[in-house]
Amino acid sequence: MNFRTRFAPSPTGYLHIGGARTALFNLLFARHNKGKFILRIEDTDVARSTEESIKAILDGMEWLGLHWDEGPFFQSKRFDLYREHAYRLLEAGEAYRCYCTPEELEARREAAMKEGRPPKYDGRCKNIHEKLDKPFALRFKVPPGTTVVRDVIKGAISFDNSTIEDLVILRSDTTPTYNFCVVVDDATMDITHVIRGDDHLNNTPKQILLYKALGHELPVFAHLPMILGSDKTRLSKRHGATSVMAYKEMGYLPQALVNYLARLGWSHGDEEIFSMNDLIEKFTLESVGASSGVFNPEKLLWLNQHYIKSTPDDELAGLVAPFFEALGLNVSGDERLPKIAGTLKERSRTLKDMAESGAFYFKDKAEYDPKAAEKFLTPDNAELFALVIERLEPLETFAHKPLEEAFNAILAEKDLKLGKIAQPVRVALTGGTVSPGIFEMMEAFGKGTVITRLKDALAHMKSAARK
Ligand code: GLU
Repeated sequence: MNFRTRFAPSPTGYLHIGGARTALFNLLFARHNKGKFILRIEDTDVARSTEESIKAILDGMEWLGLHWDEGPFFQSKRFDLYREHAYRLLEAGEAYRCYCTPEELEARREAAMKEGRPPKYDGRCKNIHEKLDKPFALRFKVPPGTTVVRDVIKGAISFDNSTIEDLVILRSDTTPTYNFCVVVDDATMDITHVIRGDDHLNNTPKQILLYKALGHELPVFAHLPMILGSDKTRLSKRHGATSVMAYKEMGYLPQALVNYLARLGWSHGDEEIFSMNDLIEKFTLESVGASSGVFNPEKLLWLNQHYIKSTPDDELAGLVAPFFEALGLNVSGDERLPKIAGTLKERSRTLKDMAESGAFYFKDKAEYDPKAAEKFLTPDNAELFALVIERLEPLETFAHKPLEEAFNAILAEKDLKLGKIAQPVRVALTGGTVSPGIFEMMEAFGKGTVITRLKDALAHMKSAARK
């Protein structure tokens, strides 16, 4: 069997976390089964679809590494195909012309609501067999009986056809309607597995009936439980960012988000860390759970930290650079950046954190936290600092090991503990008391800046003495 899946977003906004998970599961299923993953843009709602949104969706998929094999196909370019299929159903007696005007339909709907009846089309045009000289829509003739959705995740769900109205497939202005386009597309694109959010479950019986009327084999359906927020309601902006690209802007790595999204509903034993290749190898629909995943920002941060830590320094430099730039710090062309990123990566949960905690590297000088300066840049440390400067200036290789040796020598001579020097040096270099290890930090800074900042600190100590 040639497995074919599709992701079919409506371009009416950004790529949502839930949409991205649907896309990911479709991709993983296709890749795992050596099949194809198709991208289809469902832009039949011309009023709500925008170019900007199409771009946002494609950008989001690109960033996450969700590469599709075919498409993007645009429904707006396939109207002739839908019309042809709608007329095929008319000729086969599976659809009929409906001459009811929107006003009439609305009046009947209101009356039904008032009387507490379901506002379902009453089928009155079904029995008009001659063609009238009036505008008409095409309606699908829902047959009597029961329609069973056999869902891989949810099991079998029965729908009584009497609850399904004869749906319009082609409007009187000849534009096709949503459910019909989906079926014509899935059928003509030979989609074998329809994997989508369970908010579409109610569409599925209608779509199954349309498949049958068109004489197409049914695909396998898998409806994914919605993603919930911490309060167990459907994930929305109230719970935080829901746009994939907002996560990029907050400094998340795509690998972290992909890993996180995969685990929202799918599991493989108690494993947590999966690369895209691991996911492709291990993903099956059978291991998607039937209950909703709850979005947990802390876990996403934990994964992000993991992926930041495991990214090589030179790659990290390129990723974090825009976050430094966003703070107004010019880092472009700065060759120290990979080393600097290397000193920050152990403690950073996001690239944004990383840039904020490493901003001191790129400031013109250390901006002292007054309390830290008062405590550590004291006159009685001046002599020690002068000695440190004297020992560091001649160092030819300004690297972790020789720096550590130089410091150890001073400590031994003066019979001091590292803390006595490390904190003042830290304040001198960064302005504060929290930073990466001083030797790796000094190596990343480079000799010139270290000496300048130590001298600045020494001057500060001396001026403090005069006050
Ligand atoms: N266009 C629909 C959406 O964005 C998806 C339809 C489907 O997957 O069948 O929700």
